[in-house]
Amino acid sequence: MNGKRPKHVPVRTCVVCREKADKRTLVRVVRTQNGLQIDPSGKLDGRGAYLCEQTQCWERASSGDVLNQALRMTLTDEDRKRLLQAIP
Ligand SMILES: [Zn+2]
Repeated sequence: MNGKRPKHVPVRTCVVCREKADKRTLVRVVRTQNGLQIDPSGKLDGRGAYLCEQTQCWERASSGDVLNQALRMTLTDEDRKRLLQAIP
């Protein structure tokens, strides 16, 4: 023990693959009154979920119901399109 604490890095979990990653490498999506919004700044109010950088996670998020469950909403076609357009 050298008394040093490891630097605190906020970690979040991708809702699709369940892999934990540094918050900065994940993209937040938020349920808003206007449907699902991509929130790169992480500042939007509302129930949010994180997706990692893998294209397949975004594809699965847009085609499956992972986000419906995570955000307790029903993705519209618009929402799904928005996800596909936002693939990192
Ligand atoms: Zn993922």
